[in-house]
Amino acid sequence: MPRVLWCINSKQMKHIALITGVTGQDGSYLSELLLAKGYSVHGLIRRSSVDYRERIAHLEGLPHFHLHYADMSDSMSLVKLVGQVQPTEIYNLAAQSHVQVSFDAPEFTADVDAVGVLRILEAVRTNHLEKTCRIYQASTSELYGKVEAVPQSETTPFHPYSPYAVAKLYGYWIIKEYREAYDMFCCSGILFNHESERRGETFVTREITLAAARIAQGKQDCLYLGNLDSKRDWGYAKDYVECMWLILQHDTPEDFVIATGVQHTVREFATLAFHHAGIELRWEGKGIDEKGIDTKTGKIVVAVSPDFYRPTDVVNLLGDPTKAQRELGWNPQRTSFEQLVKLMVEHDMNKIMHERISELSKERKMNLAEYLEKGIVK
Ligand code: NAP
Ligand code: GDP
Repeated sequence: MPRVLWCINSKQMKHIALITGVTGQDGSYLSELLLAKGYSVHGLIRRSSVDYRERIAHLEGLPHFHLHYADMSDSMSLVKLVGQVQPTEIYNLAAQSHVQVSFDAPEFTADVDAVGVLRILEAVRTNHLEKTCRIYQASTSELYGKVEAVPQSETTPFHPYSPYAVAKLYGYWIIKEYREAYDMFCCSGILFNHESERRGETFVTREITLAAARIAQGKQDCLYLGNLDSKRDWGYAKDYVECMWLILQHDTPEDFVIATGVQHTVREFATLAFHHAGIELRWEGKGIDEKGIDTKTGKIVVAVSPDFYRPTDVVNLLGDPTKAQRELGWNPQRTSFEQLVKLMVEHDMNKIMHERISELSKERKMNLAEYLEKGIVK
């Protein structure tokens, strides 16, 4: 049975979480969850010339939320940070997380996503915390890659199919190795795609929900996509971060598949997203010539561009969450696919509407300046 009450019951134990990747989609939801559970949360951030803390802006300034500069490619910074924070739990979420980008930046991806995991493990050992600090590693369904079985479970063989997946496979095995070699409580969550209104804007779901909102509000004409037949098991990120926590509260360190057990194509995601934006799609043509047509206006609003095809593409991911259901008591169906698409589209419809209002008010100000200049208004 999961030790779900571990952090609530043991009063003497101080719960200190260190989250790498705190500025990301999952890091932001996990921070909220752990703060609500009474943890002291420390997030690793890296220096950037632009503001990239939008997802955690609402948490900054809270008394139990602390941010520290370090980098997954800098061992010394990690050793110092772990020593300073003395975490009881580490959630290693930091990664170059985009599959397509990993073909363009394979070495950086390997450094952060593979060796970065080793650096965290060694930082824990260097600070002699291996018996008191539990470690969660953000592993991925991309490990199954060119899939050898459908659905995929904890026992399905891996066949990584991108530089990202190969790097994450190293992370998976080094976690297992340190668990066996040093008896450390370290686990991988093999998470299938999970999305939200905070999902990065270059992942296909968010590209679709943003474009559907822009097209519905007259701000864009057409959305270009790659492989429409690709199938994913899409869940809601907010539900998935709860599982990360449950994995670390379990009696024994183990790896878990986290998925909904339901699969849809990119085309199905687009059809539903446009529906929620008020546009009904009709699909015509095949392959590169396939088009999504607005049934009301007859306009092409979705088209295929080979620019978004990948050198190797993972096309058939479907997870089997039975173990997580049975051993962690986790409910994979809490948020349905339909609810997920709806909440993402509603969010993006609002976002685009606010952008339009702000553009309009800027225009009005310019007009006002002109009026003043011409002396029409004083
Ligand atoms: P995300 O939104 O892309 O966030 C990635 C985080 O990693 C960001 O906070 C980023 O910081 C940080 N990061 C990247 N390189 C770093 C470096 N060198 N040093 C320190 N921090 C660095 O990803 P996510 O969707 O939240 O996913 C979280 C984790 O789960 C990732 O490891 C991802 O690979 C894995 N995963 C995700 C999914 C999914 O569907 N979302 C599925 C399976 C596994 P900046 O803000 O500074 O860029
Ligand atoms: P991934 O599963 O981590 O690679 O998540 P993505 O959201 O980036 O991609 C999911 C699937 O959608 C992959 O099989 C892509 O090839 C496919 N896809 C089709 N068109 C697009 C597109 O325009 N952008 C992205 N990012 N993926 C696309």
